[in-house]
Amino acid sequence: MNGKTCIVIGGGYAGIHAVKAILKVWKAGGDQGPLRLVLIDKQSEHIRKVLLFKPAATAESVIKVPFKELFPEGVKFVQGTVTGIDSQKREVWVQDLQGGIQSISYDMLVAALGSVVRQPASEQGGIALADLDSARRIRETWQHNLEKAARESDSQERQRLLTIAVAGAGISGMETAAELAHYARAEARNRGLLEDDVRIHLYNAIDRLFPEGPKKVGQKLERHLSASGVSAVHGCKVLQEKEGVLTLSTGDTARAGLCIWTLGLLPNPALQAMGLPVNEEGYVMVDRSYRVNGAPGVYSIGDCAHITDAASGRADGKTCKEAIAQAVRLGRIIVADLEGRRAPEHESYMDSFCFGLGPEQGMAWTRKWGIDFVITGKLGWALRKFTWDSASFQ
Ligand SMILES: Cc1cc2nc3c(=O)[nH]c(=O)nc-3n(C[C@H](O)[C@H](O)[C@H](O)COP(=O)(O)OP(=O)(O)OC[C@H]3O[C@@H](n4cnc5c(N)ncnc54)[C@H](O)[C@@H]3O)c2cc1C
Repeated sequence: MNGKTCIVIGGGYAGIHAVKAILKVWKAGGDQGPLRLVLIDKQSEHIRKVLLFKPAATAESVIKVPFKELFPEGVKFVQGTVTGIDSQKREVWVQDLQGGIQSISYDMLVAALGSVVRQPASEQGGIALADLDSARRIRETWQHNLEKAARESDSQERQRLLTIAVAGAGISGMETAAELAHYARAEARNRGLLEDDVRIHLYNAIDRLFPEGPKKVGQKLERHLSASGVSAVHGCKVLQEKEGVLTLSTGDTARAGLCIWTLGLLPNPALQAMGLPVNEEGYVMVDRSYRVNGAPGVYSIGDCAHITDAASGRADGKTCKEAIAQAVRLGRIIVADLEGRRAPEHESYMDSFCFGLGPEQGMAWTRKWGIDFVITGKLGWALRKFTWDSASFQ
């Protein structure tokens, strides 16, 4: 049989696991012929997005992994931005770093372009935790504030400088707040300030943490956060940060030296322009086996796709674990499609979440047979670390 070219666009969690799964099914044999596997990404490195809060808190974090290190052989890596997909001609257009455009032909294409971080309007102030640059700016800002606080004689201004607001209390907000509490308090001690004067306020639009799971798990998380120096402010959104003053949805104001936005994710706006069919929200429309509607040979998984469980009607979340499970299934789907066999279909991932609650602190929750299991302590941390590391083949 002739060889096949499979292109994977996007080397995030969905993309790298798709590459691995495709290599694995090809290695396992069959009559698919030789494989030319091409991974295309804007960057030269896989970004461990779920750890973005780390460079916001400490310089000792490594969250980039070069693609060449992840896939030393069997994969051709092309650095460039995919600007269009012609699903009739089976070609993608890729713009390189110099602005040149090349087209690459494919037999199979996996669109795993991810999502973008929801950003407030620029007049709303603050810094959104969106990428490595913003994470570094966050760290520079709170460190600069602590430096100023150590010299400040006015106690109210000192307190403002020592206050950090985290606006958005999803997992990213909680993990960011917990990590910052640890490092900012340590830095305060080093500068001769009182660590208890460092205040981290986690603003939450709804009335409890962790709405995805049981209330008691949300309460447990809140107790852990509180013990590390993070206070949750429920039923309150930050509307704006201007010159150190926060305007809140309750009509009140509060003072803070830094406001960090952790507002969740939005569909990648490039998807539609690229020629992929998207739903009203902007996610790529796929069938039960991740095949893109009306585009033969094209599949889409991860944050960029709208994927639902046919049995329950439940849509997959935009999380790492769901992206990885889809990628693993996709390898088997692609080979089944090539061989003309019935392909596996999507099934929801089990209910489970892991939380990092500061260095070497973690918690995991899962629900099985209708029973909630909560793991804390060393095992909770080990599970959290395992999910982070295995997601990026570390
Ligand atoms: C701050 C933050 C914290 C998070 N915390 C958690 C968490 O604790 N747990 C959890 O499960 N999930 C978390 N998430 C969500 C998680 O990161 C996503 O669900 C996951 O990254 C989805 O993987 P993906 O491969 O679909 O997309 P991504 O990881 O976003 O990867 C997409 C890739 O596509 C590339 N790309 C995009 N457009 C183009 C283009 N036009 N051409 C070429 N390449 C392109 C990008 O460079 C990127 O490498 C968090 C997200 C953020 C932003």
